[in-house]
Parts: sequence; C-alpha cells; structure tokens
Amino acid sequence: MPGYEIFGDEEKKEVSDVLETGVLFRYGFEKARNGHFKALEFEKTLCSITGSRYGHLCSSGTAALSTALAACGIGAGDEVIIPPFTFVATFEAVLTAGAIPVFCDIDETLCLNPDRIEAVITPRTKAVVPVHMCGSMARIDEIKDVCKKNGLILLEDTCQSLGATYQGKALGTFGLAGCFSFDSVKTVTCGEGGGIITDDKAVYEKADQFADHGHDHLGGPDRGADGHPIVGANFRISELNAAVGLAQLRKLDQILKIQRENKHALKDAMAALPEVSFRYIPDANGDSATFLSFSLPTEERARQVAKALAANGAGSAYWYDNNWHYFKKWHHLKEMKRAATLPFELCSNLPDYKTLALEESDAIMKLTISMQIMLSWTKQDIENRISAIIKSFKG
Ligand SMILES: *Cc1c(COP(=O)(O)O)cnc(C)c1O
Repeated sequence: MPGYEIFGDEEKKEVSDVLETGVLFRYGFEKARNGHFKALEFEKTLCSITGSRYGHLCSSGTAALSTALAACGIGAGDEVIIPPFTFVATFEAVLTAGAIPVFCDIDETLCLNPDRIEAVITPRTKAVVPVHMCGSMARIDEIKDVCKKNGLILLEDTCQSLGATYQGKALGTFGLAGCFSFDSVKTVTCGEGGGIITDDKAVYEKADQFADHGHDHLGGPDRGADGHPIVGANFRISELNAAVGLAQLRKLDQILKIQRENKHALKDAMAALPEVSFRYIPDANGDSATFLSFSLPTEERARQVAKALAANGAGSAYWYDNNWHYFKKWHHLKEMKRAATLPFELCSNLPDYKTLALEESDAIMKLTISMQIMLSWTKQDIENRISAIIKSFKG
C-alpha cells in the first residue's frame, strides 16, 4: 500500500520547486511563486485519474470527509449510515459535523451491505457513507440504488482505495462526492493530506470555500477582497505537502502494477489452501491490491493462523481485535469519552453505541485476516513470504 516506499528524486524535485520560491501557501503570491501551483496541479491530476470534474485538496482525509459532509449539506442532527469496519476518522467526521453516526452491518466485501441499509433508515437519515476498505470495493452500484430509491446522499470514503475501480469507473465517483486520504501510510502520500472529488459544481464550490474560512477565491490577487458566502474552517493543505503528493500521484500506475503483481503471487500460492476463502471482490479487475484479505472457517483457526503468520515473519492484520479499525474496540465512542460535549448530544433519541450489537459484522470480522502488500518486496521476499504462509497453515 504505502507510497512512502518509493520516494525518489521526483518528490525532492517537487519540494525544492516550492522551497526555492519560499511560497508555501497554495493561494496568491502570484509573482513570487514562479508558476508553481502544486495543490492545484495535484487536484487536476486527481481529476484526470478518477475522471471527475472537480477536485479539492485538504489537510487530511479526515478534513476531506468533514469538508465533503458540509459541502453536501450534511450537518447537525442528520443521521449518516456508516459501516463498523473502517478507520475511526469516518465516525469522527460525522460527529464533528454534529451529525449522528448510524452503524450498518458489512458483508463479505468487508464493506457496507446494501441489503441492510433500509433496516436502519429513519426520518432523520440524510446520507450513506460506504467505506471501500483495504483497496477494494463495496457493492457500490447496489448501494447507489438504495440511496437513490430512498432519496439519500451517497458520499464515498475512498481513503484506502485510490486507483481502484468498479466496472472501469473510479471508486469515489459513484455518489455526490468521494474522499481520499494521502496520509503517511496511504497508497499515495502527501505526509498529511486528503482530497475530495465531485462532478457537482455547487458541491465543489462549497468544499473550496468551507476548507478555507469561507473564501470564495474570486477577489483576485488581494485575498482580503474575497467574499465569504459561507462560514468555513481551515482545512487547507500546504504547498510542501501537495508537492510530495504530486510526485507520488504521478507514480500511481506504477504503484498499482507492482501491488497487483505482488498480490497475485501470494494469492496464487494460497489458492491451494483448502481452509482459505478469499474476500468477495465485486470486480476483481478494479482491485487496487493494497491488501490480500481472506477468511478461515472458525474464529479459533483465524486467531491461530494470524499468530503463526506473525511468528513466521509474515505479519498480518486480524482486524477483529484492532483498536482503530473495528467497532468492537471503539470504547471511547461506546462510553462517550470526549474532550467536551459533542454537538450531536443535543439531539434526542441517540443510538446507544454501548449496547449496539452488530452480529453479522462480528461474524465476518472474527474470521478475517488481511495481509498488506508492499511495493518494496523482491522476488526472494515474496518466495520467503509464501513459504512462511504455507508453514503457518501447517501448524
Ligand atoms: C486514513 C483514513 C481516513 C482518514 O485519513 P487521514 O488522512 O489520516 O485523516 C479516513 N477513512 C479511512 C477509511 C481511512 O483509512
């Protein structure tokens, strides 16, 4: 997955372009910046990769989610349907918006189950945010149909799946907006960064304004002359971060090619293991291949294999016990531990996360193991890894 594995002269060149001008700000300073607009160029490149009309870069994936929620008109008191298998940022952004996270079970795609969405819709439901976990896709066309049928906004958390497609169409382009993360461990990294894509002009304009204190960016060279159509915040990215990301984004094809080759090598070798069922991928050709995920017949066996993999030097993720990616261990949310009262606490009839049972998701997560696919693996590394995997299954 991680773009940081392939830092090279390209990243250095982009960063030194910025340092030579001394302009670290993405807006203004037209003369001093010597023609360098790294954030803007990143946005154009992201649009051309994903085939979207508009793109906006933010300071993080979490900031991108917050900005997209606001730009799509999702705010205080709205219910937002999300999966329990994601990074904590998804529910954090919903809470920050003053909206109410409503959890809905996942299916064998390890993503939101379209067949379970209608059961959790209420009159307060405003949006559905599926998360394309671990490089691959949800049943996004079916989720889109459910949203359409029920008049709900579809916003995709594509933070982990840059470059993945479903039937040739980029993930992140199925709903009103899609969000990406370019944090330090993602497929493409800015160090810290995030992005929003949309085909909707009004959503784009609101995102562009919201992420920069409400500036409409129409005042010309004098930033002070900008109008402020809406109240915003500061979720801007710096040119330095954007510069690193720009060089990385240009390497995306190369990254995807290596990931896919490395993943196939492991998957082929594991296909002969009778206990293994691979994750259901609705369109295998569109998998970005950042992870190889599979399940074992029982929880006990999954735990055994995960332990053996670690012992044999082929570490994996057993998400069911993970502090950050699965609902089971989100004790801070369940017990409402927070720095200050959250806006959504002013609403009535909040879900009780402490007693919430997500049995279908638990049943899937108990059996699931994911192995991260690295770019830096040599042929020998892959052979060693395959031996370690085979050995782990024998134990
Ligand atoms: C990484 C990630 C985010 C947030 O990204 P940051 O850039 O770290 O704020 C959001 N959702 C998912 C699913 C992620 O993996």
